[in-house]
Amino acid sequence: MATLSTTITNKPSNASEAVIIPQLNLTLSYPQLINQITSFQTQLAELGIQHGDAVAISLPNSLEFIVSFLGAAFQRAIAAPLNPAYKQSECEFYISDLVSRLVLVPWGAYDASAPVVLAAKKFKAGIAEVRTHNGKVELVVKDRGSLRPATQVAQAQPTDIALVLHTSGTTGRPKAVPLTHANLTRTMTNIVNTYKLSPQDRTYLVMPLFHVHGLLAAFLAPLYSGGTVIIPARFSASHFWNDFIKHKANWYTAVPSMHQILLRSPLPPQIPPIRFIRSCSSPLAPAVFEQIEKTFKAPVLEAYAMTEAAHQMTSNPLPPAARKPGSVGLPQGIELKILNTDGKEMEQGKEGEICIRGPNVTDGYLNNPTANSTSFHEGRFFRTGDQGKLDADGYVIITGRIKELINRGGEKISPVEIDNVLAKHPNVAEAVTFALEDEVLGQDVGAAVVVKEEGKTKERELKDWVAKELAKFKVPKKIWFTKVMPKTATGKIQRRLVAEAMVKSDA
Ligand code: ATP
Ligand code: MG
Repeated sequence: MATLSTTITNKPSNASEAVIIPQLNLTLSYPQLINQITSFQTQLAELGIQHGDAVAISLPNSLEFIVSFLGAAFQRAIAAPLNPAYKQSECEFYISDLVSRLVLVPWGAYDASAPVVLAAKKFKAGIAEVRTHNGKVELVVKDRGSLRPATQVAQAQPTDIALVLHTSGTTGRPKAVPLTHANLTRTMTNIVNTYKLSPQDRTYLVMPLFHVHGLLAAFLAPLYSGGTVIIPARFSASHFWNDFIKHKANWYTAVPSMHQILLRSPLPPQIPPIRFIRSCSSPLAPAVFEQIEKTFKAPVLEAYAMTEAAHQMTSNPLPPAARKPGSVGLPQGIELKILNTDGKEMEQGKEGEICIRGPNVTDGYLNNPTANSTSFHEGRFFRTGDQGKLDADGYVIITGRIKELINRGGEKISPVEIDNVLAKHPNVAEAVTFALEDEVLGQDVGAAVVVKEEGKTKERELKDWVAKELAKFKVPKKIWFTKVMPKTATGKIQRRLVAEAMVKSDA
């Protein structure tokens, strides 16, 4: 079993540029990056940070973020990334759910009225600003809180918890997921193997690093393979192609909504050669899959991931193996079974709950005995909460989230199926289907669409479009036209939030 320190420190001899930070005009080689991390580790030790201490990282994507994260993990501490956009009540929840000893904020952000500062003070966490000074990342303590005297520099162990992230909260209150060095390094290995990542690969990182998708697939896995990661401060469609071409990136991974934004934005005069485009974290409608492949002239590989599995579980394989639109591909370094509620395996082709087992999967949630007692079947098969089936080649097809199924008078309807049909309409750019409260049926089907050309398509036409392909009971009772689809910070769709926003827009 490996640790983040061993995987990142031992590099292939031809590994050269580790990270490029466009806004600082800075490129770090592997030895330079490792030097920064170990020096940050020493600074944490000087603040008394030791084995098991939680360090909350409220930083945007930056050199400061990656050095803080890896410095904390090397020091046997638990890195707890926070979305810097959180409001005070969210900061309080995340800082206290995993009692944080130290909270890291950006340079100049220590302001007595900042939500994260107020929350840190409430729970007596130390607060430090992080800056890059003369090319070196350093800590400046602003409040010692409950920090202890200096301690020794430590050596991380595979079973140490390196990271605690919360699930996206799509189906309820976010759950805290502890992930060990062994869990993370196993996912890194799986991702490197799936995409045959090598020191020649260069990725342009667009996902937030406070989520497993950005942290594992776009940062840690490429780093493990000795490749190069280009880290802009945020995803911006207007900078994307310029940066991608300038820094010779050859792949990227993103949520479907980002691919959609890129499809709707101006293209460069010439699309650069792209080895593959990865899509993950939300369903990718087959119609959008086709559009991305056609427009960006690269194979699109849809993957399936979750926080509890330290990100990736399955992915479509690289060519020449088949990639199948509408499928999330094959298990990658994990065991996957389709089980019924009693934990019995379903026949091939039959729907059930997707359950997984592997060294990347968490041992259980923090502070959540109820979820822990119901989340695993016999033999430690983790219940993903996703409904799916296997095709004849063993490819996984997700048919919906168990908690998101629409129960229309007892008839269970998967919203994904309707999303996919709507997305095939030539004037639909994005479609989200959800449950609508209904006095008679309990629930009925509602949908929201973003159209490419406004005023061109009527609700009736879209309903008829769905009715051509699906049974009448699946046709949305009402379809809303919206300019923007409400999304979470990581660009994920929360169907119940879309439903609330649409119903509210009528009021
Ligand atoms: P919560 O568990 O708090 O309700 P969440 O499950 O959305 O939130 P994450 O761990 O970020 O939190 O997301 C994992 C989920 O995302 C999966 O269980 C699955 O439902 C969905 N997902 C991930 N990749 C895909 C994909 N390619 N297609 C469809 N759904 C996906
Ligand atoms: Mg979940």
